[in-house]
Amino acid sequence: MHAHVTGPRVLLRSLREAMAGPLEPQERLNRIVQQVAAAMKAQVCSVYVLRADNVLELFATQGLKAEAVHTSQLRVGEGLVGSIAASGRPISAADAANHPAFAYLPETGEERFKSFLGVPMKRGGQPLGVLTVQTTHSVQFDEEDVEAVETAAMVLSDLVASGELTGLARKGKELDLSAPLTLRGDRLASGIGMGHALLHEPRVVVERLFATDEAAELDRLRTAMEALRHSVDVMIKSNFEGVQDAGESEHLDVLESYRMFAHDRGWLRRLEEAVSDGLSAEGAVERIRQENRTALNRSSDPYLRERMHDFDDLARRLMKELTGSSPLGDGLTRDFIVVADTMGAAELLDYNGPHLKGLAISEATATSHVVIVARALGIAVVGRAQEVVARAETGDFLIVDGETGDLHLRPAEDVRLSYAERLEFRARRAAHYDAIRETPAVSQDGTHINLYLNAGLSVDLPQLETSGASGVGLFRTELQFMIASSLPRLGEQERFYRSVLDAAGDKPVTFRTLDIGGDKILPYFRADKEDNPALGLRAIRLSIDRPGLLRMQLRAMLRAAEGRDLKIKLPMITMVGEVDQVRVLLDREIAMQEQFGNTLPNSIQLGAMIEVPSLLWQLDELMGKVDFVSVGSNDLFQFVAASDRTNAHLANRFNPLSRPFLRALRDIARVAGRTGTPFQLCGELAGDPLSALALLGLGYRTISMPAASIGPVKDMVLSIDLPSVTQMVNAMVDDRVGSQTVTEVLTDYADHHGIPLFAV
Ligand code: PEP
Ligand code: MG
Repeated sequence: MHAHVTGPRVLLRSLREAMAGPLEPQERLNRIVQQVAAAMKAQVCSVYVLRADNVLELFATQGLKAEAVHTSQLRVGEGLVGSIAASGRPISAADAANHPAFAYLPETGEERFKSFLGVPMKRGGQPLGVLTVQTTHSVQFDEEDVEAVETAAMVLSDLVASGELTGLARKGKELDLSAPLTLRGDRLASGIGMGHALLHEPRVVVERLFATDEAAELDRLRTAMEALRHSVDVMIKSNFEGVQDAGESEHLDVLESYRMFAHDRGWLRRLEEAVSDGLSAEGAVERIRQENRTALNRSSDPYLRERMHDFDDLARRLMKELTGSSPLGDGLTRDFIVVADTMGAAELLDYNGPHLKGLAISEATATSHVVIVARALGIAVVGRAQEVVARAETGDFLIVDGETGDLHLRPAEDVRLSYAERLEFRARRAAHYDAIRETPAVSQDGTHINLYLNAGLSVDLPQLETSGASGVGLFRTELQFMIASSLPRLGEQERFYRSVLDAAGDKPVTFRTLDIGGDKILPYFRADKEDNPALGLRAIRLSIDRPGLLRMQLRAMLRAAEGRDLKIKLPMITMVGEVDQVRVLLDREIAMQEQFGNTLPNSIQLGAMIEVPSLLWQLDELMGKVDFVSVGSNDLFQFVAASDRTNAHLANRFNPLSRPFLRALRDIARVAGRTGTPFQLCGELAGDPLSALALLGLGYRTISMPAASIGPVKDMVLSIDLPSVTQMVNAMVDDRVGSQTVTEVLTDYADHHGIPLFAV
């Protein structure tokens, strides 16, 4: 015998009424369980809601003893109800008492009931509770029964998620939903972000689950479906264009199945039916998606499961079309943190605006494109944030601490206040840096210091103006390549470099040729797998092996800089002969421009990055061959200390602020000074005021750093007497006993001389 008589559609209509009425939360719940029980011809319907202490509390029941409500409880994993919450899957049992997971709760009086069907209430991946029905007679629940109860569970999930039930839990207990949650993730971009969570993949909220104007909803649904079909067609077209061999066509099969689903009449029909049952367009998409998920969980056929995943993804895209989650940045009026499983760099840029404060993301690493862009935007990023993605709801308060890697979801008042204080302190500092933006970076004794910017993307360019930097000391050209989906062509490169020079105006710009390989990977660039990519075929080595790529880049730079000054530097030079090889290519490109009658740059300078220790013993030869040198302290230190710069376990083990490393930096400065070769340093070291103090003492007068560091470093420069700093730093570096660490010596000196050292 089957349980249902009315089916999911009729049930949905009556639930809609229960949700719309002006009822107290407990009343609403009571009404819902009554309606589900009636629709299912069941004697019992109960709702268990998950609390923060991982206990499921009976919140409402039709059929069990009334006194059990808010008394009866089960741990997650305990009994049938606890098992459903733990597994996230429905359980149906014709003879519940004989089910292996059964646990008897005497206070409920459920011994009278025979058959059981329970389904999880969820939001995203997060369990919120369990909805059950029970009958006195033996019943074999079928798929339609499960679907009907799942529909009701979906409505209830939204009710729980809306926060309306928060006050109902047993005294002193909180729902999981509203409890503060602190998690430690990966620090991917520094800074502190505070604001309201914004889910990149939006979920349906309760107001939108039902709708009154059926015709309007059908209209919205059809428009969104049209847009979805169009976007899938465009996606397929652009993917087919680049395909040359059959090996690349595998992902096209996936796209073809997208097209099949997107044009599937059955899907649209089911969605339309759901709308005529009273659901909003979003509610309909969610319901059909859930039905498919249930089918997916039941199927063991791998092919079918894959297709179901495709379908799930497509449903998500349709939802996005409906909720219009595209360019939001300027439209959002309060500070927000984007919360995402994964996202592309371009998608993050869609959110860019004054209120974007941070990103909590599950699947990303320090070199993911989205993280590179986030850093350029100056927002805090914490990775490995799966749990926050599952538990956050749009609107929840969230703090992203890029310094510690902590994520605070719905933080308690004291946590929030202490972060607010830190932000306020930072804001005061920022106002101060803003006030000295136009002040030249001149030390007390009158020495001018060049504070330059490290950049690489269009979003960095406004920072030339806002930071007060006096030039771009390092333009990382590979970033344009890294965030592109295919190799940027000559014209694109030229346009981009021209826009950089335009933005810089009179300020100098130093472009670095492609520095790929190691941790900088181009998805469309096929390279052999290397055991030690950091020591492998990377940067200038790759450029020399693939001169076509380098020549194209040099050509783009020459054209972009017509009539202006062009400075180019080469990454990862190991032997001075490599500079000669590049110079031959550059000369050939210059000759070609002349041949075509193109205007050349006013001046062309070629420099080398000092990043590989072997150069330390070829300094004199090197200076004779280049127009300038630039120390890449990140890589130089990584190779001097044999310590992978991307390895978190080594992050605090060795410090570049150490005598041996500073001695190496001093050697470079001395040889450059002696030979009259302009020299600079661009690496994270330049951006830390304490380290920058040491660099100035070693003789560096041009240092290039991230935008956020310009203010704090300038603040330091303005207060120092350089001859005194020079003496102190040299004595410290020459000190063979070293009873104090470099950091201690520098900090003491700064304290004694009132030098401000606010790290970024
Ligand atoms: C460096 O190595 O210090 C440097 C500036 O280059 P990148 O960080 O891009 O490797
Ligand atoms: Mg480097």
